[in-house]
Order: sequence, then structure tokens, then C-alpha cells
Amino acid sequence: MSWEKSGKEGSLLRWYDVMEAEKYEYTVGPAGEQFFNGLKQGKIVGSKCSKCGRIFVPARSYCEHCFVKIENYVEVNKDEAYVDSYTIIYNDDEGNKLAQPVFVALIRFLNVEGGLLCYAEGNVKVGAKAKITSFQWPLRVKVD
Ligand SMILES: [Zn+2]
Repeated sequence: MSWEKSGKEGSLLRWYDVMEAEKYEYTVGPAGEQFFNGLKQGKIVGSKCSKCGRIFVPARSYCEHCFVKIENYVEVNKDEAYVDSYTIIYNDDEGNKLAQPVFVALIRFLNVEGGLLCYAEGNVKVGAKAKITSFQWPLRVKVD
């Protein structure tokens, strides 16, 4: 790993770094495994708290409201996906203008906590219905 710092202390600093991410193996944990295995089958898998009944997407191991372990996984109705918020990216991470702006939307599901950041296309606006067109990570959605 190498570090390179530009800027002055007390002002905005920019850090250049190289992470050898391919050298490491990361685990997604039991809930993450359920979620990602679901994606392979074209499903959105959430976890359901046995105490309060809340459903979380992506699936997670603990309820943040009841502080209880969650071991119950449910398929979320992906037809009830909608745009909660979005951003438009015009430049790449080097500041170069992109040929086409990229829409990234936070997609949520009815009666479900959490959400997924997805590449979005179509008439992207808050509250619009979203259809998942690709379950490859990161997901892609088409907005009506
Ligand atoms: Zn709960």
C-alpha cells in the first residue's frame, strides 16, 4: 500500500492511495450471503425481524430497532420498487466530463426498510416506479 498526500493541514486534503483489494478475501456474512444468492436467482432477499416484523433490504443479521438477531429471510416484492432519491454524475473521478451523464438512484421497496443504490435509466424522478433490469451487482433499473 502506498500513500501520497496533497494539500495542507487544516485545509482540504486529497489522499492518493492504492488498495490491493484483490489480495484480500472478504466475507459478506450470513445475511449478505442470503441477499447475494437471491440476486443470482433474480430475487431481492430481505431479512424479517421476528419481534417487530420489519423487513430489511439488503438482508441484515440484526434488527436495529429491537436489537435481536434475525435469522428469517423473505423475498421482497420487486414489483413495488420505487425511486427514493437520485443523483446525476457528469464527471468521472478524475474530473473528466462523461460522454453521457450517469444516474444513480436509491431504490426502495414498499413496506421495507433500507434500499439499494442502482444505476438508473429512463424518466428518473423521485417516487417513480422502478423495474430491475439487471441483478448483476450493482443493479440496474429502468424507471417509467
Ligand atoms: Zn425488530
